[in-house]
Amino acid sequence: MAKKVLIIGSGLGSLATALRLTSKGYEVEIVEKFHRPGGRLNIIEKDGFSFDMGPSFFSMSYEFTELFKSCGVQNPLKLNELNPLYAVYFEGREKPFMIHKDLAKLAQEFAGIEPDMERKTRAYLEAAGKIFHDTEDIVIKRNFNGTADYLMQLSRVPWKHAPKMFRSMWKELDGRFDSQEVKVIFSLVAFFLGSTPFQTPAVYSLLNYTELIHDGYWNVQGGMYQIVTKIKEILDTRGVKFHFNTEIVKVHQSGSRVTGFEDANGKIWTADIYVSNSDAASFRGKVLNRKKYDTPKLDEMDWTLSPFTIYLGVKGRLENLKHHNYFLGNNFEDYASTIFKTSVSPKKPYYYVNVSSRSNPESAPDGCENLFILCPMPDLRYKPDWSDSEDLADNIIADLSNRIGYDLKANTLTRTVMDPVHWQNNFNLYRGSGLGLAHGLNQIGAFRPSNKDEEFSNLYYVGASTVPGTGLPIVVIGSRLVTERIEKEHAGV
Ligand SMILES: Cc1cc2nc3c(=O)[nH]c(=O)nc-3n(C[C@H](O)[C@H](O)[C@H](O)COP(=O)(O)OP(=O)(O)OC[C@H]3O[C@@H](n4cnc5c(N)ncnc54)[C@H](O)[C@@H]3O)c2cc1C
Repeated sequence: MAKKVLIIGSGLGSLATALRLTSKGYEVEIVEKFHRPGGRLNIIEKDGFSFDMGPSFFSMSYEFTELFKSCGVQNPLKLNELNPLYAVYFEGREKPFMIHKDLAKLAQEFAGIEPDMERKTRAYLEAAGKIFHDTEDIVIKRNFNGTADYLMQLSRVPWKHAPKMFRSMWKELDGRFDSQEVKVIFSLVAFFLGSTPFQTPAVYSLLNYTELIHDGYWNVQGGMYQIVTKIKEILDTRGVKFHFNTEIVKVHQSGSRVTGFEDANGKIWTADIYVSNSDAASFRGKVLNRKKYDTPKLDEMDWTLSPFTIYLGVKGRLENLKHHNYFLGNNFEDYASTIFKTSVSPKKPYYYVNVSSRSNPESAPDGCENLFILCPMPDLRYKPDWSDSEDLADNIIADLSNRIGYDLKANTLTRTVMDPVHWQNNFNLYRGSGLGLAHGLNQIGAFRPSNKDEEFSNLYYVGASTVPGTGLPIVVIGSRLVTERIEKEHAGV
């Protein structure tokens, strides 16, 4: 008889794991707290507009190719490559910098600003590429059996990269480039890890390599939620049952085995094997009551920034906005090093704007655009009070209107604001942290909550806060790692 796996949560990590496990003959059932699958990879549909709720693009698209191929299904996703990758607007400079993958073209953008840009960029990206290829298989794409195994694997990474583990990304860029603009732009990838370039180790310059050289950035035709829709369609044909509005709150055990999980209504869900796609650190604390993950300990950990997001449907075409745009001020070092630990909303926020109707016209009515605005904010440990949400949204919308020369407020047809409290409550994101645990050296590899439970022999984890880490392709890799573990430890059980 097929072994049954219960997955708690239906984020991308869950869906990808369900796809892999059903391909290997397991029976899978999924319980989800929210009313729709996808977790952070979600959708808002309102007043004729649709918005990607969270992720709007990704790198390492080949991880999706691998997922579908290894499960014996045709890849149902149609991807658009972003070219240029994005536009960066600095306060007081009308023309944005267009970030091209063609490095000669990129250098032209910085003519008169960064001398010898092309040569410097090639040298920087070559070093970053070496880190990527020297660590991808050793650190990212494998399971570790404890710290000793991890350190042993790490010792295979060439020693020449070691200094970059201890210097910050900002310091690395400062040593290689002269202009503030280039340093700031190349350091934006640190925010994709949910941190700042001053805290992020320079090894993560590998993200500049993945964006500019390796695989670039992609989004999905028809909107990012197609990833969820298409995987769920396959899972439906395989008989996977989904139960929404069902939050797991308690574990039942017998010795070192989980015998069931109880939901908030007292119903007990049973299976042979369990996978938690709920945050791997806070689930251990809140549902399993582990001391190592109680609230004071969770609060001491490094968490990624919280999202403050606005979804704006507007009348009119915003021809001067690209699909992906960053709006920055001129006080980057000051802003990035202070803003994330304060309880006060910024007067002049930095933010990211995505207009998916530029490449997916069906996501907005004719003659309209859909804007997704993301402003990274301190998590709820630092700023618990979000009663100023609507004011902050007004402030950001007014700033954006000024900078693109279009009155967004007067042309707004629909508006939704999600602050860190919404993100926390909708998806159980700890203190509203958008990307889960941070990726400092003390919280990766064997130092990140493992994908195998410490005490229960039949409980596993997948998602942003377990290995290898956060981001769509990385979570897809995580689904492969957890499936490998389950296969190895439960074959024939
Ligand atoms: C605003 C924002 C923008 C982002 N942009 C990008 C991007 O552009 N590119 C990119 O690659 N990544 C991006 N990310 C990161 C990416 O969304 C995540 O890394 C990824 O989606 C995490 O997937 P996951 O498998 O951890 O599941 P999650 O999305 O965390 O889903 C977990 C699910 O479990 C459910 N759950 C939790 N606890 C319980 C419980 N006790 N009982 C039942 N159900 C439970 C939750 O409701 C949720 O549906 C972004 C994230 C945010 C927030």
